Amino acid sequence: MIVMKFGGTSVQDAEAIDRVATIVRDRLGETPVVVVSALAKMTDQLLAMAAAAGAGNRDKALELSLAARERHFNTASDLLGTGKFAQIHAELEEEFNALDDLLRGVVAVGELTPRSTDSIAGFGERVSSRIVSASFSLRGLNASHVDSRQCIVTDGTFTRAVPQLEETNSRLADSVKPLLSHGRIPVMGGFIGATRDGIPTTIGRGGSDFTAAILGAGLDAERIEIWTDVDGMMTTDPGLCPQARRIKTITFEEAAELAYFGAKVLHPATLLPAIQKNIPVLVLNSCNPKNEGTRITATAPKSRSVFKAIAAKKRITVVDVVAARMLMAHGFLKSIFEVFANHRCPVDMVSTSEVSVSVTVDSNESIAAIAADLGKLAAVKYEGRKAIVCLVGENIRSTPGIAAKVFTAISDVNIHMISQGASEINISFVIDEAEVPKVVSRLHNLFFSEVDPEVFA
Ligand code: ADP
Ligand code: ASP
Ligand code: MG
Repeated sequence: MIVMKFGGTSVQDAEAIDRVATIVRDRLGETPVVVVSALAKMTDQLLAMAAAAGAGNRDKALELSLAARERHFNTASDLLGTGKFAQIHAELEEEFNALDDLLRGVVAVGELTPRSTDSIAGFGERVSSRIVSASFSLRGLNASHVDSRQCIVTDGTFTRAVPQLEETNSRLADSVKPLLSHGRIPVMGGFIGATRDGIPTTIGRGGSDFTAAILGAGLDAERIEIWTDVDGMMTTDPGLCPQARRIKTITFEEAAELAYFGAKVLHPATLLPAIQKNIPVLVLNSCNPKNEGTRITATAPKSRSVFKAIAAKKRITVVDVVAARMLMAHGFLKSIFEVFANHRCPVDMVSTSEVSVSVTVDSNESIAAIAADLGKLAAVKYEGRKAIVCLVGENIRSTPGIAAKVFTAISDVNIHMISQGASEINISFVIDEAEVPKVVSRLHNLFFSEVDPEVFA
């Protein structure tokens, strides 16, 4: 069997969902399980409703919800025609009434908790998966809607809940496998799950890719397909640099580094389940299905180019901890990292000197509290609006002088931190966020104007 995941733009309207049905029909012989995101931008809109309700703005929350309701009803009726639409109309009504009840509840208690945020954020996938499933049935595909909250079991870390694989796998075996053996196509929402007690959770923004990988590993898929709005993994974000080229093949390790350092095309957690079961992941374009996309596997053909791609991760804060002579004291670094751990704040990059430690974290609302706690140990300063730029490629290992070439090309740019060697396949550095377009396009011109045609399209 295979898993096919369609992102927000791939299901953004009736026309897009119709294309999805055609793509899935082409793969029927391979026993597909289909995962869908919310319609494009829907999750942002749901979070805006939640925020409005949390701020006590009932009218705005309900107005946004009404617009979402109408968009889904219109999409469903365009896809299904009157007869079939009538069948799922009641289901959709029920979902949107539940959403309105939740929003009113948030206004009434005057507080938006992470738990209610997750309940609200998950509606996009709840309804998109029902619409896609119904439209498949109308197009002669044997679809069965599966409620992801019944199968994807997570812990209770709302907004970035951690899937509990053992329980999830046993539920998949009970609810999804039998459908496959009866020749049906399970259609599920990505991104959402529930705790053991059935409280709705989400697994982090962009998490539908991760859902697809969890299903792929849990059901022993032969392949995981991530269908999106670009031709595959590219040498850099095509939105940032139109010259970006498609990467034909890339290793799990390289793709994971790129995803981690900002290549939004894949959620950073996606590759872990695939690596564990050695399942190839393909990134494909739902608007250009004939294109062969990018194949991500354990090993890739040797490339003559040094780098495979450049990623940039914005919204980074650099935290500097300065403690003369304290730094080398036994246990000091541990106490610094404990502060980040206590705030459940992951650290991306680290650099130390005799008197200071600098780390980067994703900008978030806990920074001030983290700085206050670090301030008890040493002097602290922090600065936001930074970005990590990361060049990835397995050939970095064996190419002398490559860092010199990178930094010479951007010698007019202020570099705040540099890191190379942790994985031996990436060179990363921190710059001001505003410099990202210039730096990325300059490095892209330098390293990707002439590339190995075996590896790049
Ligand atoms: P989906 O809704 O299908 O999950 P996303 O918006 O999450 O799609 O991811 C696709 C987007 O990722 C592309 O439109 C592109 O702008 C962005 N992107 C960033 N880096 C890369 C890259 N290296 N290769 C391809 N796309 C990238
Ligand atoms: N709809 C969710 C989001 O926008 C999950 C996803 O699309 O992968 O974050
Ligand atoms: Mg995505």
